[in-house]
Amino acid sequence: MLAKYVHFSKRGFFSCKYTDKSLYYVKFMEKTLVLIKPDGVSRAKVGNIISRFESVGLKIIALKMVHPKKEDVDKHYALTEEWMMGVFTKAKAKYEAEGKEFPYPDHTTYGGEIKRGLVDFLRSAPIIAMVLEGETAVSLVRKLVGATEPASSPPGTIRGDLSHDTYALSNSQNRPLRNLIHASGNAEEAEKEIKIWFTETELYDYEHVNDKAQYDPTWFLPQE
Ligand code: ADP
Repeated sequence: MLAKYVHFSKRGFFSCKYTDKSLYYVKFMEKTLVLIKPDGVSRAKVGNIISRFESVGLKIIALKMVHPKKEDVDKHYALTEEWMMGVFTKAKAKYEAEGKEFPYPDHTTYGGEIKRGLVDFLRSAPIIAMVLEGETAVSLVRKLVGATEPASSPPGTIRGDLSHDTYALSNSQNRPLRNLIHASGNAEEAEKEIKIWFTETELYDYEHVNDKAQYDPTWFLPQE
């Protein structure tokens, strides 16, 4: 019914109707937070990283350079049981896969140390914060970012292509992995994290060519 209606109608009229954001934006669009960490900024990877997000068709709706405050990093990496366990389990699995003994006794001590290192790392120099919008933006960005440990992150991912740090080296130097970038893990995390780094008025709502070419159902129809 919808297709027929569109087909027999003048494109201009329906593109007006369908570019109304209520119709295709609200239902499918997600926002996600990305931080380019101090190593990404100081190694001049900002342009490369941003261009990957633009190339895949994501829309930048907020972007700034910021020298983080301790309280912002503290809020951002909340020391939850789940986070500490995740950090511990991922690293332990990697050590064991390499036939090495994991020398850290429990997730709370290990997680606490990683968190302390992260707060110092993120406060050491300016970072880039941005919000990206698009269909399934959260999982799309995580796919492009890759695995936590750059050395295990496949070619084609940001961490795999642009860095090669390991758990072994970073743990032996008692510092967090230098993996260039943070990206929200899920939609709930994204909502919380965006509020830490941006005010409501810093998020821009504007017309982008991708809005129509990627999401508007009345584009790419025969002109009759
Ligand atoms: P991700 O950034 O891939 O979502 P996590 O949320 O688990 O990873 O961890 C947050 C950050 O903490 C990582 O990006 C990395 O910089 C650092 N980190 C995590 N686990 C370790 C570890 N075992 N050793 C050193 N640094 C770590």
